[in-house]
Amino acid sequence: MSLNIQDLHASIPDRQILKGFSLEVKPGEVHAIMGPNGSGKSTLSKVLCGHEEYAVDSGTVTLDGQDVLSMAVDERARAGLFLAFQYPFEIPGVSNANFIRAALQARLPKGEELDAVAFYKRLYSRMDQLEMSRTFTSRSVNEGFSGGEKKRNEILQLMMLEPKYAVLDETDSGLDIDALKIVSRGVNAMRSADRGFLVITHYQRLLDYIKPDIVHVMIDGRIAHSGGPELALQLEEKGYDWAKEELAAAA
Ligand code: ADP
Ligand code: MG
Ligand code: MG
Repeated sequence: MSLNIQDLHASIPDRQILKGFSLEVKPGEVHAIMGPNGSGKSTLSKVLCGHEEYAVDSGTVTLDGQDVLSMAVDERARAGLFLAFQYPFEIPGVSNANFIRAALQARLPKGEELDAVAFYKRLYSRMDQLEMSRTFTSRSVNEGFSGGEKKRNEILQLMMLEPKYAVLDETDSGLDIDALKIVSRGVNAMRSADRGFLVITHYQRLLDYIKPDIVHVMIDGRIAHSGGPELALQLEEKGYDWAKEELAAAA
């Protein structure tokens, strides 16, 4: 059982971005990927999501043994993969509650109806946990949401969908201290022995709140170095140059 990425190569026309990326996340583990801007972190999450802009040239991704790369985007979600930015876009005319409800309904066997009363009970309790106003249930998905509200909503989706593996790409844009706290509270509340996390960040600070089990440094499309939580502190102190040199020396 794992989310297992092996020797992944991915590109856009004329340019290779992932160059032999390998990583295995087991249930119960929280992995963090850090790396300088442009190292391919967001490309990795987009490839996992099935973004059409990126071609997978070689390598494998499996989720508890199932081939993820051959699945359609919505199949990946049904198989238990959650990608935070999968739904960052606005969906006019679809209420937030109905959107989450449809995603949950899609996972049920044919003919089985989601229990609406139980659904709302759970939704409200998660919203209370995230200190979200009830008005968010009826508002269109992400429409007019502030950066912090989108973040909260993303964590609400995570809490409601209860995926087996969650990939959170925390880009530098718009992550203020409140957003950092929301994300970390959500991740920490959802940590469990049967769920794995891959938290992608550029910010050591996020890892003050989410204590990862394993930290990886991504440089130029692959993992250059892996270590324990102390690695995040080293990176904060020493930057990424030593990891780049290490990678160059190994080549
Ligand atoms: P990171 O998230 O680590 O900052 P990205 O995955 O966003 O890195 O980008 C890796 C490199 O690939 C960057 O140099 C970026 O400009 C380039 N890149 C990624 N996606 C595209 C794209 N759709 N078109 C052109 N260049 C891209
Ligand atoms: Mg970037
Ligand atoms: Mg990025």
